[in-house]
Amino acid sequence: METKKLIGFTIVFILFSIVVSTNSLLAQDFLICSKCGQKNEIVNKFCFVCGDSLDDEYKAWLTKKNKTRYKEEKFISGRVDPPRLFTIPTARVLGTKDISLMGGGAFGVAVQQSFLGTIGMGLGNIAEVEFSTVGLINNISQGSPSVSTSAFKIQLIPENLFGLSFFPTLAVSIRSSADWKDVRSDWGALNSDKVFYAYNEFTQRSECAVSSIGYNTRFTIMYGVFTFPLGPIKIHSGLTLTDIRVKDMAVDYIWQEDNDAPEERQKNLIGGFAGFEIEYNPQTKLMVEIKTDSKHEYNMETKEIELSHTYVGIGGVRFFFTKWLSIDTGVLYQTNYNGIADSQIKLGLNLFMPTGSILEYVKTSVKRKVSKE
Ligand SMILES: [Zn+2]
Repeated sequence: METKKLIGFTIVFILFSIVVSTNSLLAQDFLICSKCGQKNEIVNKFCFVCGDSLDDEYKAWLTKKNKTRYKEEKFISGRVDPPRLFTIPTARVLGTKDISLMGGGAFGVAVQQSFLGTIGMGLGNIAEVEFSTVGLINNISQGSPSVSTSAFKIQLIPENLFGLSFFPTLAVSIRSSADWKDVRSDWGALNSDKVFYAYNEFTQRSECAVSSIGYNTRFTIMYGVFTFPLGPIKIHSGLTLTDIRVKDMAVDYIWQEDNDAPEERQKNLIGGFAGFEIEYNPQTKLMVEIKTDSKHEYNMETKEIELSHTYVGIGGVRFFFTKWLSIDTGVLYQTNYNGIADSQIKLGLNLFMPTGSILEYVKTSVKRKVSKE
């Protein structure tokens, strides 16, 4: 675990160094006199040492600045941005026929989240489909068991409605687990749980010390999300309705026969999420998000899986290596953690295959060729 933590910190450190160094390179805002080599303020008309005119230097500086700005704007407009922050969705959708791949995980001391992967595809610039694995927060197994899900998202209010760039975008989505997920306890995780440990210590000599717990679960999440563009800041906020099913609950006791409850139970949880992103420079944006996530907790008293909410917060950056390759890294904290030592370094890689744009490009160049002949 220690090495993973170290790797995480190293990556974050490298990223921040890149950000800081690119920023200091961009901020070369002074005029160097071509006659004597003196650094002058941008507003100076004449060199304050030799008195030579700085007109040519100023023109060169302006051209360079415009070029940089043009390059930055071109980079931002061509940048393929995943339609979510770290984990919360935004009201954007993937470009039509564009395919996105995302892989990542979280590195921490206490609970290790399993590897999470996502593949998505844009449809007609208004909808997208996505297949992904999500982690299940629970108190009986080490880390978060991963569940395969599929999702469909559609925009009800598209971007730039009536050509107004400040108009909010609205999207709705449904995400469903592909199948029943079998969740099994492991001895290590059970014993590191204080309540469970105390219970088993107490009942050691009676006949109901628990040896293992297992159940099947599936869920469907429905949500609506608004994106409010406020210049360089974008705010995303939404509501979620989660329908969770639990069945085949099985508790094995050490000296007693099994206690099985095969019937299906259902619970609806209403939650929400909010976050914002700020353009820091064309390569980097800051992202902060907070959301409710469903939590499965085995209760020693009721001998049931209790479904409730936990709050998850992540803050960090998205760094674009190229227009189609970016990395998300930040610090994740959940309210069911005991202290900040449990927080995790989250790392995700976003890779885009702009298949839609490439197809369009090939089509137009073929057309051009045909029309030339
Ligand atoms: Zn000079």
